[in-house]
This record gives sequence, C-alpha cells and structure tokens, in this order.
Amino acid sequence: MKALLVGEYRQGKLLDGTYETIAFAQKLGAEAVLFAAGSEADPPRFDGKVYLADAAQCGEYNPALHVKLLQEVVSQENPDLVVLCHSSYGWDLAPRLALALKAAQVSEVVDYADGAFVLPACNAKLRRQVRPKSKVAVVTLQSGAFNLSGEPTGNPQVEKVAGTVEEGMSFVGYEAAEKGGVDLSRAEIIVTAGRGIGKPENVALIESLANALGGEMGASRPVVDAGWVDHSRQVGSTGQVVSPKVYVACGVSGAIQHISGMKKSGFVVAINKDKGAPIGEVADVLVVADVLQLAPALISALQEG
Ligand code: FAD
Repeated sequence: MKALLVGEYRQGKLLDGTYETIAFAQKLGAEAVLFAAGSEADPPRFDGKVYLADAAQCGEYNPALHVKLLQEVVSQENPDLVVLCHSSYGWDLAPRLALALKAAQVSEVVDYADGAFVLPACNAKLRRQVRPKSKVAVVTLQSGAFNLSGEPTGNPQVEKVAGTVEEGMSFVGYEAAEKGGVDLSRAEIIVTAGRGIGKPENVALIESLANALGGEMGASRPVVDAGWVDHSRQVGSTGQVVSPKVYVACGVSGAIQHISGMKKSGFVVAINKDKGAPIGEVADVLVVADVLQLAPALISALQEG
C-alpha cells in the first residue's frame, strides 16, 4: 500500500498533526511520501520524499491551488490513499480533493483493522468499519488517534513544487480564537465534570473539589453543549488540549475526542460508576464510585487536612 500524507503548517511552523499522518502510515505498513505547503526552515522529520510547496508563494492554504498541487503529486506517485488531519485544513481540502480525484472520502478515522478504516458512530458510542471501493481514497484522521512511539526523526528528501494562486476562491487567513474565561493549558490540576454528574446543579460540587485541590475545573463536551459550563473549560479535540500534573475525571466515559485533549496529563484519576469505562485505559487510578457521594467526602477530607 502507498500513502500520500498531507502535512500542515500554521504561520511557518509545522503542526504536530503531520506526525500523526506518519504514525498512521507506519501502522498500515504503507510506503509513504509527504506533501506540505510550508517552509524549508522547518521541514518535517521524515525518512522519505517530501513535496514541499513554499507557503510564501502558494499560501498555507489556498483551496484551488492546493488541490491542483496534490493532483499533480497523485499522478506522479499513484498512491492508494491520501491522508490528511481532521483539522479545519483537512475538513475543507479532503472533500475538494476527493471530488477532483473521483475518490472515496472517509472522515475521522480512529483505527485501521481487518483491511478497513474504523470510524466513530453514534456520538462515538459505536464504531463502524468502512472499506472504500475506489482506486484511491482520501481519508482524514481523528486528532490524537495515531501517535508516533517516540520523537520524530528522519531526513526528508525535499522536492519543491510550485504553482500560482489563481483568481477566484481565496483563503483570507487564520485568526486565533478569542480566549475567554480560563486558560486550562496552564493549570497544574484539573478536575473535569463529565455527563455522569447528572445535572447542572452538581457543577458546583466539581468546582468545589477543584478549589479544594487548588486546581481549575474542566468539562467534557456534553456538559458544555448542555450549557452547564462555559466552552472555555471544554477539554478535548474541539476544546482545549491540556497537560496538567494531575487530571481528575469525574463521570467522564473516556471517548477518544476527550482523551486526545488530556492524554498528556501527568497523573490521571478517574471516578466512574462503571469499572469498564474506557477512561480506565488511560487512568493511573480508576475509582469505581458514585462521584456525587465521593466528591463531598473528598472535599471534607481535604478541608480538614
Ligand atoms: P458520557 O459518554 O455520557 O459518559 C458519562 C460517564 O459517567 C459514563 O462513563 C458513566 O459510567 C459515568 N457516570 C454516570 N453517573 C455517574 C456517577 N454518579 N458517578 C460516577 N460516574 C458516573 N467530547 C469531549 O469531551 N471533548 C471534545 O472536545 C469533544 N469533541 C468532539 C468532536 C467531535 C467531532 C465529536 C463527534 C465528538 C466530540 N466529543 C467531545 C464528544 C465525545 O465523543 C463524547 O460524546 C463525550 O466526550 C462524552 O462525554 P462524557 O464522558 O462526559 O459523557
């Protein structure tokens, strides 16, 4: 199998997601080449051919031009797969490229098993397998689903590709989201409220536990979507990526989109009624308990101590 990996740069810096595409190719045992629109000053560490478009000339993103450049690389390399990150770049580029190549497009791949792409279904409660029938498939990878086992290494053979930005659809640029509320990325202790807390009135309990531990409160997406907690506290692939020394997950099941935001935490304690909850796979300690009973006891013990 041969894979064309699509790397990503933002403001001249290579993004980590690029290495997730490399980890995916390694998992498949695929021969890989890489395309990226970026800068020679920060090339991907990768043993193989890198088709590098100069972002100063081609833009870090330009829909029409990047599709055209990728089509040229596809016709040269004949890959079975084109692999992108499931990022704003990948969301926009993958379907455009699939249309241009008359290829199948598979979004948010989280695994590869039995010759099939594995995707989350039913809000990540189920998984489904997809085997595209087209000659080439364009896939996007769920953020955090594939990781290199160590630090990236390698000496790329850089081949420059060039094109001219055409009139028509243009890309204006990236704008950093306004940061409101709390910056969880700096917190050393985070206590996260998951849907298991049951109702909005219980948010105060998790907040008290976070205060008693001298930390900040985080939240899973359903808790934020329900309006119980502000979005600035959401942890996960569509929230903040955090790496506290201690992470306490209260009534959080451990969906991949949540794990991808907290897996770099130093020590993970999960409190869950279900001893089989997936959060147990990443937790250093899984306390099988009702968080609504355990949290008040923990708060009293911390306040007494
Ligand atoms: P649930 O999955 O409902 O889990 C609740 C858990 O609480 C269960 O394990 C249950 O056993 C336990 N429980 C119930 N009652 C108690 C109790 N009294 N005491 C102790 N434990 C109890 N999710 C995120 O969190 N962050 C993201 O950034 C994010 N981005 C997403 C992006 C996309 C594109 C998609 C499709 C989904 C995203 N999700 C994200 C949602 C994700 O797939 C899960 O649905 C979500 O993480 C589940 O949240 P949860 O663990 O709080 O709830």
